[in-house]
Amino acid sequence: MIGSSVAFRTRSWAVLLLGLLTTASPAAFAAECPGHPDALGTSRTLVVDPREHPRIGTMQYRETLPLKDHEVVLTFDDGPLPKYSNQVLKILADECIKATFFTIGGQAKASPEGVRKLVAAGHTVGTHSMNHPLTFDRMPIEKAETEINGGIEWTSAAMTDPSSQLAPFFRIPGLMRAEGVENYLISRGIQVWSADFPADDWRHVSPDRVYQLAIQRLEAKGKGILLLHDIQARTVAALPKIIRDLKARGYRIVHVVPATADRPATPTTPVEWLLHPPSETTPIARWPAVPNFVFAQTVTLPAPNLADLNAQAAYQPLFPRKTVARADVAATLPVPDRDLFAIPEGSIEVLLSTTLSRRAATRVAMAAEAPRAARGKAGKMQGRKTAHAAHAAPKHAAQAKSQANGAAPHPTRLASLKKRAQ
Ligand SMILES: [Zn+2]
Repeated sequence: MIGSSVAFRTRSWAVLLLGLLTTASPAAFAAECPGHPDALGTSRTLVVDPREHPRIGTMQYRETLPLKDHEVVLTFDDGPLPKYSNQVLKILADECIKATFFTIGGQAKASPEGVRKLVAAGHTVGTHSMNHPLTFDRMPIEKAETEINGGIEWTSAAMTDPSSQLAPFFRIPGLMRAEGVENYLISRGIQVWSADFPADDWRHVSPDRVYQLAIQRLEAKGKGILLLHDIQARTVAALPKIIRDLKARGYRIVHVVPATADRPATPTTPVEWLLHPPSETTPIARWPAVPNFVFAQTVTLPAPNLADLNAQAAYQPLFPRKTVARADVAATLPVPDRDLFAIPEGSIEVLLSTTLSRRAATRVAMAAEAPRAARGKAGKMQGRKTAHAAHAAPKHAAQAKSQANGAAPHPTRLASLKKRAQ
């Protein structure tokens, strides 16, 4: 046990040293890739726990691998197919790149030696179903389970020690995801891998187009999981150019392996599993999750009246808004008498007076009532009511004063009052 502990610590130091060298200089990889001084190499190994982050790949899911900027994970599906898989292995070996392969059970059955070559080269091997049906999104779950298990069974059968050589990683054929399929995989501790970008190497496009798409899409995201296929001639043709360009553009290869009892997951924070973690300029993302926030509010506080929030029938979020302040005022003042607002039709001056100071309001109201002065008492009553309104809204006193002194009412204010009067 002591021996293994020392070995582990030595390896930890080696990993740490490799990490330092990564940022030092490209030449540092020469020692890591004998005979290939210009190799791109593999900059680090990322250990992931499938149970902690069961679905990855932003093509379909919220989370992806916790990669740093300019880090890339290469993945190859549908093999092993010796004719092309062997060429892909040679290209990767010459660059000292470790990748992840998602094998098909049928291919493993036909070429178990192909699976063993992947393992011997140190790549990560996950699975990709038995027969690669493109109907995972609609087939009965029992059939999906048979497909998943067939792929695992035949890939395992080709390995000398599947318990340590087969990664609990699965990619759904054609990325035809389905909730039931994902839940089944997750219940078995298998991580569902989508990707961050493909290079369309299964389509009838030129190798150069595959290269262009791989680089363009990577550049657009800055990092991520690249989806390729090791059963296509165009992929074999494009791969060296892709790798050369990755190196020229300063990208680094990350090798992903599953966590085990004696290989703990690389420490990460949840936010690192997002392709673009929120920055300091997006503080909203750091707020509590919405359900917690809402529950906390509704449990401890009475539900606000929709009218208090100045809300319509539609849902209104409970964030602070200007209308809250108005609601406070309304809550502390008596509700005005309904007939307070019984204003003669078309009499905009009287309408304005509802927000004037006591003196100005009285003057304007009396002026408006002048033609009906004969009624006397009624005019006084109107004046009192409008004065009361002015008292209820003292914050408008200054504005009212300027209006009383002959200044024209603010056009916007006038328009809104006219509208209210209708
Ligand atoms: Zn596939």
